[in-house]
Amino acid sequence: MSRDSAVFDRIDRELDRQRNGIELIASENFTSAAVLEAVGSCLTNKYAEGYPGKRYYGGCEVVDEIEQLAIDRLCELFGATYANVQPHSGAQANAAVFLACLKPGDKTLGFSLSHGGHLSHGHPANFSGKHFKANFYGVEEATGLIDMDKVAEKAREVEPKMIICGASAYSRDWDYARFRAIADEVGAILLADIAHPAGLIAAGLLNDPLPHCHIVTSTTHKTLRGPRGGIIMMGQDFDNPFGKTTKKGTMIKMSRLLDSAVFPGMQGGPLEHVIAGKAVAFGECLNENWKAYGKQVIANAQAMAEALVERGYHIISGGTDNHSMLIDLSNKEITGRDAEEALGKADITLNKNMVPFDKKSAMVTSGIRIGTAAITTRGFTEADCRQTVAWIDQVISNAEDDALLGNIRQEVHQFMARFPLYEGELVS
Ligand code: PLP
Repeated sequence: MSRDSAVFDRIDRELDRQRNGIELIASENFTSAAVLEAVGSCLTNKYAEGYPGKRYYGGCEVVDEIEQLAIDRLCELFGATYANVQPHSGAQANAAVFLACLKPGDKTLGFSLSHGGHLSHGHPANFSGKHFKANFYGVEEATGLIDMDKVAEKAREVEPKMIICGASAYSRDWDYARFRAIADEVGAILLADIAHPAGLIAAGLLNDPLPHCHIVTSTTHKTLRGPRGGIIMMGQDFDNPFGKTTKKGTMIKMSRLLDSAVFPGMQGGPLEHVIAGKAVAFGECLNENWKAYGKQVIANAQAMAEALVERGYHIISGGTDNHSMLIDLSNKEITGRDAEEALGKADITLNKNMVPFDKKSAMVTSGIRIGTAAITTRGFTEADCRQTVAWIDQVISNAEDDALLGNIRQEVHQFMARFPLYEGELVS
């Protein structure tokens, strides 16, 4: 078959971009070649509506084994007793939990998007905000931290059916035990969305939500370093608290409600090729080297935060416990949008991000977000992070100087040649 150059030449260009640049988008990572191989495999051809052993299609013997392997590895990784590996994305996983636990019009309490939360936690533009009455907690302006007493106060006032903890841009760890105490006090289900720190939690380096939260969701492609996708887990299954019974009158377990919310509630056929990629990635996380990777991710983020602070940058909350940080550029006389664009010209990729209490719109923003999961996979250590901060500072201080940005771009390319990506590992 002749190569479709219209597509594959562009994939080659994207591979060059990924190889040559410094990837600081906090929600991205580089999967292993084995994960890419699984995702690009013949499993994409297979329909498998249903779950292992209970499918609506024939020929599912092999994909049953693969999906069960992904479930078993995920349970082992997080000490979960229930896992669903079918959600196509993190947003789909959250939507399935909403569908399983809430009725239209029910009240929720989540972390505000403008303070670092996620769209799928109740934003008015999202399913979660259109069909449910979303309420929000945020961070304190003075500290950039969540004040748990204020979360408790808000929960008492709102009386939500579900409380959501977890974020897209919060550099501190979460007090899941306190969230659970608040949820119990107001009779709410507690959902933790660990999309960002999941890989670090799996490495045992951050607080563990599984013992405290009723339900945990995540993406699989950020610090977990798998293919793009979502997952749902529970530490312990429990009788659903909504009084839903079988025809025989037995209380339905939460696991069954979650499974049927994913399929047939939200999705049709599972992406078994992606599920195979998830299984490979979970296997990598179970490897003894995973903890070392997680430690380096955090060490790199802390080195970067320190170097930024030394150069007069304002990090929300003053530093980081995880892989990410949010930088308020208000004192640097540049918007997040312009910083993102200028850094892009030097092949340093990150995203503009609103900071808490931002006066600028989401398309302009006063801040940028940085994460170290991807550069750590490339092999960066603390010294490489300090060099990266030096370039970031040079770019932000000279954002209009295209000649300088071009020179930095050349330096970045030479530097990145030291950190090979998929060299000799890809099939084509
Ligand atoms: N939840 C959180 C906390 C996220 O940060 C993200 C994505 O960035 C998601 C959910 C959604 O994931 P996806 O883009 O796979 O739908």
